[in-house]
Amino acid sequence: MKEQLPFFNFSLKKVLALEPNSLKRAKIQIILTALVFTIIKALVIVFVAYKYGQNLQVLRAGIVISIAVVFIKILLSRPASMPVISHIILLIGLLVIWSNLLVFVHHINIVTIQMIFLSTLVSYYLIGGLRAACYTVLVMMPVLYCFLFSKEGIAPPGIVSQELVSSGTDPIILLNFLTFIITHYLYYRAFKQNLQEKEALNMQLQKNIAEVKALAESRSVFLSTMSHELRTPLNGVIGMAHLLKDAAVEEQKDTLNILEFSANNLLSVINDVLDYNKSELDKIELELLPVNLTALMGKIHSGLSHKAAEKGLDLVLYLDDRLKNMVVLTDPTRLTQVIYNLAGNAIKFTEEGTVKISLQAKSIENDKIDIHFSVSDTGIGIAPERQDAIFDPFTQASTDTTRKFGGTGLGLAIVKRLLKLFNSTIHLDSGSEVGATFSFLINFKLCSEEMQTREILQATPVALKGLKLLIVEDNRINVLLLEKLLSKWEVATGVAWNGQEAVDKLLTENFDGILMDIHMPVMDGYNATRAIRLLSDPAKANIPIIAITASVSHQLYAKITTAGMQDYIHKPFQPDQLCEKLNQILKPVHL
Ligand code: ADP
Repeated sequence: MKEQLPFFNFSLKKVLALEPNSLKRAKIQIILTALVFTIIKALVIVFVAYKYGQNLQVLRAGIVISIAVVFIKILLSRPASMPVISHIILLIGLLVIWSNLLVFVHHINIVTIQMIFLSTLVSYYLIGGLRAACYTVLVMMPVLYCFLFSKEGIAPPGIVSQELVSSGTDPIILLNFLTFIITHYLYYRAFKQNLQEKEALNMQLQKNIAEVKALAESRSVFLSTMSHELRTPLNGVIGMAHLLKDAAVEEQKDTLNILEFSANNLLSVINDVLDYNKSELDKIELELLPVNLTALMGKIHSGLSHKAAEKGLDLVLYLDDRLKNMVVLTDPTRLTQVIYNLAGNAIKFTEEGTVKISLQAKSIENDKIDIHFSVSDTGIGIAPERQDAIFDPFTQASTDTTRKFGGTGLGLAIVKRLLKLFNSTIHLDSGSEVGATFSFLINFKLCSEEMQTREILQATPVALKGLKLLIVEDNRINVLLLEKLLSKWEVATGVAWNGQEAVDKLLTENFDGILMDIHMPVMDGYNATRAIRLLSDPAKANIPIIAITASVSHQLYAKITTAGMQDYIHKPFQPDQLCEKLNQILKPVHL
């Protein structure tokens, strides 16, 4: 409490107004009550004892009155001294009890018992805890003393009893009871008020939590919507740049490469923000597919080798021999994302030397295998004091990292969260300018032979030449892009500008598959698919449908399969991804 009281203050109201804590306010009131009642009782003693010539009693009461007046004055001007005053009052009470026994009364009378109770009560209300327990034991000691010594032995030799006559003790007994009642009342009132304050605080907290949650949810919706809006035009930019490159003359190729590189960079930033957003809301779920890690790592290696070669770095892939023919159940997309992030960083932050990706089988038991992954480099390293921080979102090792190397500081935060889904944690071993090694251990389930065959079959490419696909899309740029791309693969196309047109077209023409946008005017992709699945011609009703969407809803797969579509591909997509998806979906039907 900040004290702003004058040296001579006589207003309790002012003191209480400065103290926000209801329990502390009650403590001040309890001490003042005890002091005021002590003065009244001592005045009674002075009056009666003087009448009967009990000078020691008069002296003791006089001292007590003086101390009480001084304490009241201090408390009213410096309430922060309350804890010290509480201790002194309890010690004085202890002295009074002992002096009653040894000097004035020589046995335990009702006033002494009241004082013992009062001291116990006040010590818990004012001080509490172990210290209050100590005072309690000390004030109980006189009772023990009485049990140990007979009545005659209590008073030290030569001291004559000066017990107050009943006309003095009766009002004191009454005043003690009053102190009891008021002290209890004050503390109970403060306790109740305190509980009400806590309840109100709790309700406010719940309200704030709900508001924060709503805010987080709306931020996530905002990010999803924004990225959806960004991804659709980006699809056109990336796709067209890719197509243009085929027809471009040599000097245009460099410009197109830069255009494609920048668009892909922008896409990866959008994807990072989205992924982080999804992982923050626990919306990422792992898919479990049979995966040959050797093949997967080979793909990642060749995907990154161009980047490494550009910087003159050696990109080494070490694979434990035992992994060669093993197929494990895992999410290849997310695992690839983790390795790509780590190895991408390693290449980015290394100027010369080697980047090594290594997979080591640790233990193989029944159908389980522990694999230790590590990505190490000979780059700039990470100072020990920044090694924890770099896993936080939007955090980089130093303030000039973005300027020198680019990036958003989201990659490692995503890696950390993704690895949590794999029940793993990332470890970093690095020092300034001595390279860095990121490593983690994942426990995989090994696949049965039948699943292994599936995995190997899925990896086989199939030509799309000669197929005829229906493009259902309302965005002209995307239609143009798909037409050009598919014609490059010698796939014939038809176009419908909305879901209803697609259903009508399918009734009059034959197609091998449909590429279906989701959000369209007149009839959306979900309703169009449901209508197609109800067609009477079984060949048309069962036509393979692949959704092409910029949506990032975490229930997308569930939604499109419930509507009757086979799979989806995200906008913007790389041509290879579309080719692979078409192979996967159309292959079993047409080959
Ligand atoms: P970004 O790479 O987009 O900046 P990350 O979250 O992937 O974000 O990395 C965070 C930071 O950690 C980087 O900015 C860099 O300072 C540091 N870092 C990550 N990997 C390495 C590495 N292999 N060598 C040195 N520093 C690294």
